[in-house]
Amino acid sequence: MIIPFLDLKSPYLELQAELDDAYRRVMESGWYILGKEVEAFEAEFAEYCQVKHCIGVGNGLEALHLILRAMDIGPGDEVIVPSNTYIATWLAVSYTGATPVPVEPDVITYNLNPVLIEVAITKNTKAILPVHLYGQTADMDPINAIAARYGLKVVEDVAQSHGARYKGRRAGSLGDAAGFSFYPGKNMGAFGDGGAITTNDDQLAKKIRVLRNYGSQIKYHNEIKGYNSRLDELQAAFLRVKLTKLDEWNERRKQIAASYLDGLKSNEHLVLPHVPEWADPVWHLFVLRCKNRDVLQRQLNEAGIGTMIHYPIPPHLQPAYSELGFSEGTFPISENIHVEVLSLPMGPSMSKAQAEFVIKTMNRILIP
Ligand SMILES: *Cc1c(COP(=O)(O)O)cnc(C)c1O
Repeated sequence: MIIPFLDLKSPYLELQAELDDAYRRVMESGWYILGKEVEAFEAEFAEYCQVKHCIGVGNGLEALHLILRAMDIGPGDEVIVPSNTYIATWLAVSYTGATPVPVEPDVITYNLNPVLIEVAITKNTKAILPVHLYGQTADMDPINAIAARYGLKVVEDVAQSHGARYKGRRAGSLGDAAGFSFYPGKNMGAFGDGGAITTNDDQLAKKIRVLRNYGSQIKYHNEIKGYNSRLDELQAAFLRVKLTKLDEWNERRKQIAASYLDGLKSNEHLVLPHVPEWADPVWHLFVLRCKNRDVLQRQLNEAGIGTMIHYPIPPHLQPAYSELGFSEGTFPISENIHVEVLSLPMGPSMSKAQAEFVIKTMNRILIP
């Protein structure tokens, strides 16, 4: 049995008729940017996320960047980010000219540790940017309480958590604004790049709509220097089809995760993911830890099981961020996580038999 880490083709085949219809509908419409499909998707996704506004944009990084720009965050400002995240979270801050200020995660949930946020706040701090990593939301109530106390904005990075809930409420509705990615491998992926912003703030939504389209409300009238960052009609049409399946596909991920959690619980070499009672994760990734991670990964690979590491190098140790001057040992929790994490195969098209095979293989591997 060969089990790929990620299978993007099967989800297409499952929805082929609907997706091909959507393709023809857009192609034959003769209208490809900012039209009916984007408008409809924005309304449908806003409703799904339990918010007033959704604005479709070019990708997840741009979603976060445009939110920060619309909040007037720029040079001299600081934004608190997790030390363990995909680099896009930090880049969105850097694009505005502001400085990302890393805070370590809770070692049990891998998400921003609210207890460590306050010491990182300075007079220049403007916002907190929690990431709902691996499909599980950060602990938002304490984060929002700190933000309220210091007058900070809260921007959610929901690139990995479409449909996840926190105390019953949807990710994307838990802060001042939220950025989503529809990169093909995400829980709700397009067939190309795409992203969206959700918010309940009328003014912010209006500003972002202008920013994403050249700073223009009326064609050829440019109030501000904006960007070209628009979700296109074709991707919006595909995403409308995908949205009808999101809950069902997340449910399948939950079943795979439940099999993994049960089948691997007695394996003493592994630290399995923890789900706090307030969380309802959607398992974008199933990430476990192992002291001999590289041995485990090699043996799984030899057995035909694809795995990935999310992520091998934390942003503060990337050459791209050498300017911030962080050396090894600055964020030990994050650095430790990066050495030990391994992501198992996961996706809506995975069968129970495949999950069982992964479990059996894992439990047979001899780890020194
Ligand atoms: C994927 C991802 C992004 C960026 O999304 P793109 O659509 O690729 O720009 C941002 N943050 C996190 C945590 C991600 O996983």
